[in-house]
Formats: sequence, C-alpha cells, structure tokens
Amino acid sequence: MTRLVLVGPPGAGKGTQAITLSERLGIPHISTGDLFRAHVGEQTPLGQEAKRYMDSGELVPDSVTNEMVRERLSEPDAKSGFLLDGFPRNTKQAEVLGQILAENELGLDAVIQLKVAEDVVVNRLLARGRADDNEEVIRRRQQIYMSETAPLLEYYADILITVDGVGEVDEVAARVLEALRDHS
Ligand code: AMP
Repeated sequence: MTRLVLVGPPGAGKGTQAITLSERLGIPHISTGDLFRAHVGEQTPLGQEAKRYMDSGELVPDSVTNEMVRERLSEPDAKSGFLLDGFPRNTKQAEVLGQILAENELGLDAVIQLKVAEDVVVNRLLARGRADDNEEVIRRRQQIYMSETAPLLEYYADILITVDGVGEVDEVAARVLEALRDHS
C-alpha cells in the first residue's frame, strides 16, 4: 500500500508525473484541481463556488476542499493507496489529511517534492494555455505556492523526498520511483 503526496510549484509537472506514477504504482491519482474542474464542467454548486477562486489563482476555501477530499478518499479505490496531486496546499489541509488518515489508523508513506526553478515553471504554464494560465493569474499562483504551500516542505520534513523535476517525463518518473525505492 502506498500513500503519497506530490508537491511542487504550479507548472512543475505534477499532473503529468502523477499520471505516469499512479500507473506504475497501481494507485489512483487524486488531483483536487481535476476534481474542481470536473465540478466546474458539470456546473455543480461546488463548481460554481470553486470557479471564482480558480479564475483568480486563489485557493478554494479549505472547508470546501477538505470535504471534497474526504469524500474522494472514502471511495473503495483509495483503500489500496493513492497519489494526491495538488492537496494538501497549506498546513491546515495537511492537518485535516492527517486526521482523515488517522481515523483509519493510516499515515502517509512519503511526500515527493518536484523541484523546478521558477522561470522554468512560468514558461511551461504560459505554453500550456489552460483557462487559468494568463500571466497575472500564474504570478498569483506562484505567490500562493511560496506563502501557503512551501511551508509543507518543513511540515513533512521527515517523510520528504526531493526530486529534480527538470527533464523528460519518463526520466523524472524514473527518478521518483528510484527515490521511493531508496526511501522504503
Ligand atoms: P491545479 O490543477 O492543482 O493547478 O489547481 C487549479 C486550481 O484549483 C488552483 O489554482 C486552486 O484555485 C484550486 N485548487 C486545487 N487544489 C486546491 C487545494 N488543495 N486547495 C485549494 N484550492 C485548490
């Protein structure tokens, strides 16, 4: 069983890596960004609420996000492990994740940090062209990463694995898998 969190600045390639890694490890990829985008697409009340924040690069309120994650983690496929992508994004969310897992006497196995320099991530995001990828919103998301999310690296210091996120998708995935093998 593998319970993993992927952390890195917007544009570090978390989504792409998560797809490859979840396949290789045989665990579901749970992306809060994807879950929110699905709600936005279906125009659910949660989606309508989340969209306001996503469009400006702000974090969706913890109450909404945590509840969505709690539900997703209670689905049967998450019982065998999971790779969380984009959650937690602040220490409050990390505490809630810890509580959800502790309720089932579980814990995280590792937190993987994808390390990529800021100029590289901004250029990647500008090239990607998602709805929330204009320059102002990108800058805001980077600021929020630095102020809200980066403290998680300290929070998870004892289970943190840092991997160089620059390179081909398969190359970076191989680095992560090797680091996980060394870690366990
Ligand atoms: P992502 O696909 O991870 O880049 O997320 C896209 C957007 O969804 C973010 O800019 C936030 O507005 C929102 N979002 C995703 N995950 C979270 C989270 N854990 N907490 C709050 N907002 C989130």
